Parts: sequence; structure tokens; C-alpha cells
Amino acid sequence: MAPIAKVGGLGDVVTGLARACLSRGHTVDIMLPFYECIQKEQISELTLITSYGSFHDGNWVPTNAYRGTVSGIPVIFIEPSNHFFKGQSVYGGSYDETEAYLFFSRACLEWMQVTLVQPDIIHVHEWQTGGLPLLYWDMYHNLSLKKPRITLTIHNMEHYGECRQEQLDKCGLDGSIYATEEKAVDDRTVGHNPERLSLLKGGIVYSNSILTVSPTYLKETLCSGWLASTLLRHRDKYVGILNGIDTDMWNPATDIFLPAKFNAKDLEGKKLCKYYVQKGLGLDLKGDSIIKGDNTIDASVKVPLVVCITRLVAQKGLHLITHAIKRVEELGGQMIVLGKAPDRRVESEFKYLADLHNQGPSVRILLIYSEELSHMLYAAADMVLVPSMYEPCGLAQMIGMRYGAVPIVRKTGGLADTVFDMDNQSNREMANGFVFEGIDEGSLNWALDRAFSYYRENPSVWAGTVRKVMEIDNSWNNTAGKYIDVYNSVRVR
Ligand code: ADP
Repeated sequence: MAPIAKVGGLGDVVTGLARACLSRGHTVDIMLPFYECIQKEQISELTLITSYGSFHDGNWVPTNAYRGTVSGIPVIFIEPSNHFFKGQSVYGGSYDETEAYLFFSRACLEWMQVTLVQPDIIHVHEWQTGGLPLLYWDMYHNLSLKKPRITLTIHNMEHYGECRQEQLDKCGLDGSIYATEEKAVDDRTVGHNPERLSLLKGGIVYSNSILTVSPTYLKETLCSGWLASTLLRHRDKYVGILNGIDTDMWNPATDIFLPAKFNAKDLEGKKLCKYYVQKGLGLDLKGDSIIKGDNTIDASVKVPLVVCITRLVAQKGLHLITHAIKRVEELGGQMIVLGKAPDRRVESEFKYLADLHNQGPSVRILLIYSEELSHMLYAAADMVLVPSMYEPCGLAQMIGMRYGAVPIVRKTGGLADTVFDMDNQSNREMANGFVFEGIDEGSLNWALDRAFSYYRENPSVWAGTVRKVMEIDNSWNNTAGKYIDVYNSVRVR
């Protein structure tokens, strides 16, 4: 949940969708593990509301539920007294994540049972809460919870929640019941010893509705990947709805992190943001953001700034990101990568590149996670690069556009649903960026080169495109209604 426990786009979605539902008059509570890394100052009115026990591995673990408010959204934090969710980051703590999230799933249902709260919809996300629908239908629905129906959103099919039968046993279910192809067995392990289960597959089978985060990703997941056959079997409850962005959190006209605000009608502030970022990071200032003596900006030299803000994982097209650094430099532009690599090898590869470039005039590689810096960089950027191998939805291109950065993307998943090529004559109305299809460097070059030539040789078209991308409505206004339709289609009236 952004901003308190955000690792990638899922955090933005949870906050943005909750806010959109609240503003439409619905009651929303977000339930979150009380990760030790959450900064308590960001939670207002934090209060202990329930002390109860929740089951794990033959014992009832004393558990506290707290209520608080985060960016105006009510949140219930579940804090077990064992070691689960301890550590300095949201993921990767020194506990068994499968068991911890199964515990969390059960602790949420147990809390509802103890407090007699029966929401219409329990909306779970990703494999981490994929066990909840099983626990609901096979345990709590037979106890006191009758009303809730379950919606599952899949943000990324690659993380499928591998789970052993004994791990499922530990949360109080009989793991052996789920080891069938119709239920939760990982089809690829059938005939192996041991066969494995997938919490994501179990979630798909047991939820009343399944959503994924863009129409194109829906099609892709029905055609490829080992979960395709399960999704096809459950096709009638599977829907693709494009994510929105939280336009309160991402608003260049009010953003507290920016040295100067701007909007589509007045872009002076954007130039200043670019200048501050270039100066702050020690990039060459000979480019088009030089502030002249009279405080105006000299637009005579055209040095576009390309940013890439991403988790540094294979999905994101690492070889294309490293290639872009080289190509942008060759083309006389500037590039900033803001990214964190969970994998040590990837981190050292990018660290090597950082050492190579970070003292130079045109490239900065910042291997940190910084919400604040990300706002600054989107605001400063002329172009935002998203060269993903696959991308269920992708928020970076939408956030970039809101801040006047023209997107350069690979045509996959949600990127294909949100970015349309400037040179596609048959779709001039939607044209808003540069799109390439191949996964090779030449394909990326083709898109980058065209973006640079528009920027340099067609300033009026470029300026028009910047205004146009800023005015595209990628907010939850557009999509929250579709989510609510799904909730309505499954809830008990
Ligand atoms: P994913 O969910 O796969 O990580 P998305 O494009 O959907 O990709 O969402 C990524 C979100 O995380 C965006 O809000 C992006 O700005 C943010 N983000 C990614 N890496 C960083 C980082 N190093 N620092 C700050 N924000 C980041």
C-alpha cells in the first residue's frame, strides 16, 4: 500500500482503488500485515482495536489488530506476536513468506469472525492472499461468515505462490484435498515427487471473480503460460480492467516533492524541474534547460532527458535498459535510471555501470528506492522509457505522461493498451508516444531515434504531444466504475 508499504505498482493500485471507491460512497478497509518496516509516523490515529488469536501450525498465535488512517484511507493492520513480517523490507524477511501470508489470510478472516464484520466483498491481491478464498469457502463460510464474496486481482502471473501441502496444513486446511488439477496443484509438477501447489491457482479456482490489470494482459495470459488452462476453465469470471493512477498522489500541479509546479497549460515549472534535477545530479547543463540571466530558459540546445524508474528485474527488459543508456549517450541525450535490484548479480551489473557513468556529463544510475526522487524525475523527464519483456499493466508510463514525459515502450500487456505510436498513420487521434515490438536492441533504437528526432526537429509537434499526454485521463475515474460493476456482479443482495 503506497506510500507506507510500496514495492511496485501493486502498492499504488491498492491505495488508488481504495480512494476511488471511498469517494464513490463505498465503505473500504484495507487489511495489511503490520510490516515492521512501516513507518508509524505515516499512519494517523493508530489504535489497537482487537487482541485475538489466529491459528498457525497447531497453535493459536496471539495477534493484535490496529486501526489507522493512511492518506485518508482506513487501514487495519494485523500484527502477529511471532516473527512473521519482521525485517527492514516488505519482502525478503527471514521468515517463510508462504506460511506468513497464509497466516495473514487466515488472521484476516478470523478477525472478521471475531468482530462480526461481514463485508460484501473481500478483494484479495496476488498469490500472497491466494489462500484466503480456500480458507473462506472451505472453513469460515462453514462457520459464521456467510455474506462475503471474493474477488482476486492478479497483478503479475509470474509469481504464482509455490506452496507445499504441509504449508497449507499449517494454516489449518487439509493440503491433500487441494492437490488436484481442478484445484490448486501446479500442473507442471504432476507426477513429480513432491507435487507442488500454487496459491495463485487455488485463488483463481476459489474466487468468485478474477481480475487482471489490462485487457491485453488478459488475452496474453489466456494464450500462454501454465495457468492458461485454469484461466480458460474459469474464463466466464475472468475480466481485464486497466489500472488507473492515483491522480491526487501524482499531480504535477500540487506535488509537494517538486521545486516548481506545472500543468498542461503552463509548462514553465517543468523546465525548472528539469534544471533542478540536472543541477542536483551534476548532469551537463549545456542543454536546453540552461537558465539565462533573466531567469528564462534557453531552448537553443536540445538535450532530451530520458528517465527509467523501475524495479531492476528481468521482466523489465534489463538488456534494453543497459542498451538505452549507451544509445541515449550516443544520441547526445541524458538518461537517469532509478531502480532497485533485488538480485545481487543484477545489482552488481548496474553498480558497474553506475561507476562507469555517474561522474560523467550525461548518465546517472541511482540504485535506490526513493518515492521523492521518483516524483522529481517524472517531472524533469522529456521521455519515460518502459522496455518491458512483459508488463501486466505498467504505471510508470501513465505516471510519466501525467508529468509531461512522452513514453517510449515495448508493445506488451498494459503498455499496448496505453501507448500508441506517433507514426501509426491509422491511429493519429490516440498517438501519444513511441512503441516498438522486438526484444532486440535494434527495435529499441528505432523507437529512441524517432523520439529524439521529433524532440529536436519538430518542437511544435513535441510540445503538442507533451500537452496531450498530460491531459489523458488515466485516473481511477475511468476504471473504478468497472471494478464496482464486478463487485456488484458477485455480491449477495
Ligand atoms: P511493477 O508493479 O511491476 O513494479 P509498475 O510500472 O506497475 O511496475 O509500477 C511501478 C511503481 O513503482 C511506479 O509507481 C514507480 O514509480 C515505482 N518505482 C519503481 N522503482 C522505483 C524506485 N527505485 N524508486 C521509487 N519508485 C519506484
